[in-house]
Amino acid sequence: MSKIIDGKQISAQVKQAVAEEVAQLKTEGIHPGLAVVLVGDNPASKVYVGSKEKACEQLGIYSEKYLLPGETTEEELLELVEKLNHKPEINGILVQLPLPEQINEETIINAIDPIKDVDAFHPNNVGKIMIGDFDFLPCTPAGIMDLIASTGVSIEGKNCVVIGRSNIVGKPMSMLLLHKNGTVTICHSRTQNLAEITRKADILVAAVGRPNFVTGDMVKEGAVVIDVGMNRLENGKLCGDVNFAEASERASYITPVPGGVGPMTIATLMRNTVTAAKLQAGRSKE
Ligand code: NAP
Repeated sequence: MSKIIDGKQISAQVKQAVAEEVAQLKTEGIHPGLAVVLVGDNPASKVYVGSKEKACEQLGIYSEKYLLPGETTEEELLELVEKLNHKPEINGILVQLPLPEQINEETIINAIDPIKDVDAFHPNNVGKIMIGDFDFLPCTPAGIMDLIASTGVSIEGKNCVVIGRSNIVGKPMSMLLLHKNGTVTICHSRTQNLAEITRKADILVAAVGRPNFVTGDMVKEGAVVIDVGMNRLENGKLCGDVNFAEASERASYITPVPGGVGPMTIATLMRNTVTAAKLQAGRSKE
C-alpha cells in the first residue's frame, strides 16, 4: 500500500512561508499584489478564481478581481491587461483560462508584461524555463516538484514518464524533471504502447484530463504517482486521471484528487506573486 502525498499539508507549509515573507516585505515597503481576470462564467474557472482570491486574503497579498462578461472582446481584454501592466499596486496578472472563443489566448498571454506573468506562460518565461534560468515557474509543475521533493525520492537518473504535452502542464513538467536529471519520456495521444512505457516509470505524472485513465497495471511497483487530473464527474465529484484504488496498491507514493496537486498550484501562484513583487522592487528573487 502506498503513502499518500498530502498536498493540503505541504501547500499549507508553503503558504505559511509566503505569509511570513509578505509580512516582512511589507515592513520594507513592498506590498505584493495580484490581479485575477475572469471572462465569462465557466463554473470551474469561477471556483479557481475564488480560491485564488481567498488565498491572497489569507496570506496578506493585495488582490483585485475582474469579472468580465462572456461577450468581452479581445480588444477590451487587451486594454485591461495593458492597464494592469502599468498599475504599480499590481505585481502579478493572472488571466484565467480557458477564454471564450472570440479571444485568442496566445494574444492575451503575449500581452502580459513578462515580469508580471505569474503563470509563466509568456514565451519569454517559457524560453527561460527551457534554458533553466527563470524568474517564475508555471504553478502546477512547480507545485508537483515540491510534492515529489516531499517524498525524499531523488529524481536524478530515474525514469520519469509524463502523460500529456500541454503548454500548461506536460511540457514544462517534463523540462523541470529534466533539469533535475531525470530521464524523461513525454507521452501523448499518438503514443503507441503507452502502458509498456508507463510500467517503466519510477516517477509517473498523469496530466491527461480523462477520469481513471491510468489503471493499476500501468504502474510500476514502487513508483511515485502524481495525478494532475481534475475531472468533474456527472455526480459532481472530482476525479483524477489515475485510478487511485488500483494505483495505490502498487505505488510507493501517490497524490489524491482532491487534496494533491490542486492546492499546490495555488500556493505556488502566491509564491510567484511575491517573487514578482521582489523583482519589480529591484530585489533578487531569492
Ligand atoms: P490538455 O491541454 O487537454 O492536454 C491533455 C494531454 O493529454 C494532451 O497532450 C493529450 O495528447 C494527452 N492525451 C489525451 N488523450 C490521451 C491518450 N489517450 N493517451 C495519452 N495521452 C493522451 O490538458 P491539461 O491542461 O494539460 O490538463 C490535464 C489535466 O490536468 C486536466 O484534467 C486538467 O483539469 C488538470 N489540471 C489540473 C491542474 C491542477 O492545479 N490540479 C492544473 C492544470 C490542469 P495530445 O497532445 O496528443 O492531444
